Parts: sequence; structure tokens; C-alpha cells
Amino acid sequence: SLSGKTAVITGSNSGIGLGVARELAKAGADIVLNSFTDNDDDHKLASDMAEEFGVTVRYIQADMSKADQCRALIEKAGKCDILVNNAGIQHVAPIDEFPTEKWDAIIAINMNSAFHTTAAALPLMRKGGWGRIVNIASAHGLTASPYKSAYVTAKHGVVGMTKVVALETAKEDITANAICPGYVHTPLVEKQIPDTAKKYDMTEEEAIEKVILERQPSKQFATVEQIGGTAVFLCSSAAEQITGTTISVDGGWTAL
Ligand code: NAD
Repeated sequence: SLSGKTAVITGSNSGIGLGVARELAKAGADIVLNSFTDNDDDHKLASDMAEEFGVTVRYIQADMSKADQCRALIEKAGKCDILVNNAGIQHVAPIDEFPTEKWDAIIAINMNSAFHTTAAALPLMRKGGWGRIVNIASAHGLTASPYKSAYVTAKHGVVGMTKVVALETAKEDITANAICPGYVHTPLVEKQIPDTAKKYDMTEEEAIEKVILERQPSKQFATVEQIGGTAVFLCSSAAEQITGTTISVDGGWTAL
């Protein structure tokens, strides 16, 4: 059980971050949810989760595109035994047309934020004598696709950073690993299905198999619960000697 541990999950008011937070809460961890917004819905998410799992859940607003706010998130959390760097955005365009501000935002949110939160969290983990860092990278941390230069760069960077953090903490009861999902069923992906079907004049089933999951040999989406379960595994005693590596949850994508 993760009872008594506090988990901070960046970008966790939807999608994978929320799914990971729910699985960690189910395993008994107290939770800090985060996004850049500060709505009633965000705080309700926290109170509902606290009630459902009987753990403490706080929502802390912080914009992961800003170095000082990344560090402030960890400082406000006060305790951080488990850090899940999940916040991420995407933009798709050929390199010679890629807007500089989109490049900067993706590098800041998808990569730099993990540096700042990790730097702020390590002293707290050392104080507690235990720490687990789980970076949500991507199959695009291991392979590339055209038109996703910033995303692929940031995710490869996160995989590299994960290895360095693992080496710097190797003698301590602290691990750092990256989960590399293929396509995961999130509200964001769900919304793309009807549009993709229309664009290619296909049924939704065909659009999923032939277009969206083209590179995923299983022809199935991973679920946010599976990503969450992988994060819980990385926090378990079975994973004590797993550090500085990646776990693909991609239906065979990176085996191709
Ligand atoms: P999502 O859009 O549902 O979730 C992204 C989360 O990040 C949201 O909670 C959002 O509020 C938050 N966020 C965005 N900008 C932020 C900022 N500036 N500060 C703080 N929070 C911010 O998308 P998702 O699919 O759940 O993606 C989560 C992570 O998983 C990302 O890092 C993404 O690259 C990665 N990933 C997703 C897939 C997939 O198929 N969905 C596959 C591989 C990797």
C-alpha cells in the first residue's frame, strides 16, 4: 500500500494524469492534483476523489510552462514522495513552418517542467528517505513521426533526463523511470475519432484501426487505468531495482 505517501501529478485534471492520480489514490497515496486552471471543477475533482478513495486530495494550480510555478507546486505540496511528470501538449506542423512559440511551449511544458519539479522534489524525497519519479514520456520518446518535432524532441529529452536522475539517486531509495505510452484512450483522442472518420470517409471502427492506430499493432488503445497501474507498479517493492529505464505501454508500437 502507498498509504502515508504523497503523490504529486502534474497536469492531472484530465486524461492520463487524472487516471494515474486515481490509481495512486486507490493504492492509498495522498494526492496533489494540478493544472494551470483554478476552477470550481478542479477543486471538486479533488474533493470527489478524496471521498471515493478515503485519502487526502488537494488541487494546486500551477502553470507548468513557468519554471518558478513548477518549483512552487512542489513547495506548496510540502511533501512529495511520488512525482509524476505528466503535463503535456502537442502541436503538429512541418519543421520549417513550426511556430516558434509552440516549440517553446512544448519544450517548456513537456520537458523543462520535469527538470524543475524534479529539482524541487529531490530534497523532499531525500528528507523522507524514499522517492519515486515517474515521467510520462511517450512512444515518441523512443521513435519519431514527421511533423511532431517539438514533441519528439521533448519526449526524447525526458527519457534522457530520467536516466541522469536515476544515476544521481542510484545509491538512495529513490528511482526514476519513464512510461512510454502509445495511443491512450483519453477524451482528447475520443474527440478525434469522428473527425478522422469523416476526413477519410471511413466508419469510426475503420478510422481507429487504419488511421489512428496505424502504428499500434494491437489495434487497441491503452487505457488511463493501465498507465496508472504501471505507475503504481513502479512505486511497488517489486520495482525497487527498476531505475533509469522506460516501460512501453504501446500495444507493440516500438517493437515494429
Ligand atoms: P490531456 O490533454 O488530457 O492532459 C494533459 C494535462 O496537462 C491536462 O490535465 C492539462 O490541463 C495539463 N496541462 C496542459 N498544459 C499545462 C500547463 N501549462 N500547466 C499545467 N498543466 C497543463 O492529454 P493526455 O493524453 O492525458 O496527456 C498526458 C500526458 O501523456 C502528456 O505528457 C502526453 O504527451 C502523454 N501521452 C499521451 C498519449 C495519448 O495517446 N493520449 C500518448 C503518449 C503520451
